[in-house]
Amino acid sequence: MGVLRIIVQFDKLGQTWNAWYENFVESSYGRSTPEEALGRLVQLDRLPDFEPCNIELVAEESTDTQFVYSMTPARVVCPECGGTGQYTGLNTVETCSMCNATGVLVAESKL
Ligand SMILES: [Zn+2]
Repeated sequence: MGVLRIIVQFDKLGQTWNAWYENFVESSYGRSTPEEALGRLVQLDRLPDFEPCNIELVAEESTDTQFVYSMTPARVVCPECGGTGQYTGLNTVETCSMCNATGVLVAESKL
């Protein structure tokens, strides 16, 4: 699972800020500040695999009227066992010690 991008853009006609997840244009909300629009989006439209605390501003792509944020997954598939929770050895099948047999790793909070 990769990084999810969030676009926050100023609507000159409506004089409001709208926020949406890239590739999900329908998730857009009119607010008076970019922070409000972003906060509202992640509050209302909480995605199970992403944590609102893992949001970062993508500075290179942001302008005065558009901000781009990246949201990193709260959980990632365990690279050691590929999400199975088991480690297959030469003659044995063992519990994966990296993820504790859960198959996922919890990403560290950036805040
Ligand atoms: Zn594992």
